[in-house]
Amino acid sequence: MHLADRVNRISISPTAAVLAAAERLRAQGADLADFGPGEPDFPTPEHIVNAAIRALHEGRTKYTPTAGIGPLRDAICKWHAKQFGSSYTVPECVVTVGGKHALFNAFCSLLQKGDEVLIPAPYWVSYPDMVLYTGATPVPIMTDPSDGFRLRAEEVSRAITPRTKLLIVNSPSNPSGAVVPADEFARIYEVCREKNIWLVTDECYSHFVYGNEKPFSLASLPGTKPNIIVAGSLSKTFAMTGWRIGYALAPEPLISAMIKTQSQSTSNPTSVAQYAALEALTGPMDTVAAMLAEYSRRRDRIVAGLRAIPGVTCVEPGGAFYAFPSVAEHLRDGVGDSTALAKQLLERQHLVVVPGDAFGTPGYLRLSYATSIERIEEGLRRLEKYFAMAASAT
Ligand code: PLP
Repeated sequence: MHLADRVNRISISPTAAVLAAAERLRAQGADLADFGPGEPDFPTPEHIVNAAIRALHEGRTKYTPTAGIGPLRDAICKWHAKQFGSSYTVPECVVTVGGKHALFNAFCSLLQKGDEVLIPAPYWVSYPDMVLYTGATPVPIMTDPSDGFRLRAEEVSRAITPRTKLLIVNSPSNPSGAVVPADEFARIYEVCREKNIWLVTDECYSHFVYGNEKPFSLASLPGTKPNIIVAGSLSKTFAMTGWRIGYALAPEPLISAMIKTQSQSTSNPTSVAQYAALEALTGPMDTVAAMLAEYSRRRDRIVAGLRAIPGVTCVEPGGAFYAFPSVAEHLRDGVGDSTALAKQLLERQHLVVVPGDAFGTPGYLRLSYATSIERIEEGLRRLEKYFAMAASAT
């Protein structure tokens, strides 16, 4: 079949492939220790669910404006201002079908063949493919594990060419959990502004930062608005992955272009999900604090457990809900790459992990700790057992 070039350039998400293989085993009754999912294991808070139920009963089941209902766009701007100190207005905001759609729409509206897009690695699996879809070229920037995978302004500077159109920064990062310090973020922004490069800040995990870190948005810094695009999501912060609500905040001409693109593709995000999102952003946020406290406990446990396994090293993640240990030492024992290792862990230990290759960094595994402490303990036991057996076999 002759499919369009833009489809042939991209692949199905490697995380989806791992999760599908795990699902097949689960369907056969396997007891999986599952570090795969990139989504909260908590239910959507009840007051948010109730708002959607109310919206259904009130008959809010029709088309809405393409860009989202006015009260939600307004609530997004106000919530972002309150949480981070930004100053967006409704015409600078569009509601999208998840944060992924905000990114996809922005890229489709801005990028074309000949453009280069800087993507710090390890990166979220979807960035390179989304960029390829538009015809532009993804250019990875390797970050340094000894510096906690934090992106540095000098690294950005070095990677810029006359074709560079855009830089994507995801802090806290999926998969590494790295958090770019605010002062470094400001320096990275300066580099982009000087060269007239867009900076996309993916704030999907903004509220899951640990220790003394506070949620931060580049949009809080004065004067940044003309050069940045904020991609936000309710998926992780409010445990709402299935509702598919995200947003973009950006200069009005770009938002208008994104609304135009949206009007000819998805139309509005689901009406009742928008009413649920409105409640999430205007209602109490104590469930977010409770989730953060639990993730923090799990992070400490999983990082300590991983570091206790011989041949495994692990940078402490500053945010998000992923640990990203290096297993490079074990790959020398002949297993091959981290994809082959992940496959063996699934088959032999029923342990689900995502290989680092998927994120542009071979030699690592991503373990989501959006799962209970008990399952974390069980998964760590299986990982340790696998490596011990592999070592004794060589
Ligand atoms: N950005 C990052 C870094 C992610 O990890 C994800 C989801 O895993 C998204 C964006 C998109 O999330 P959603 O489309 O559910 O809002």
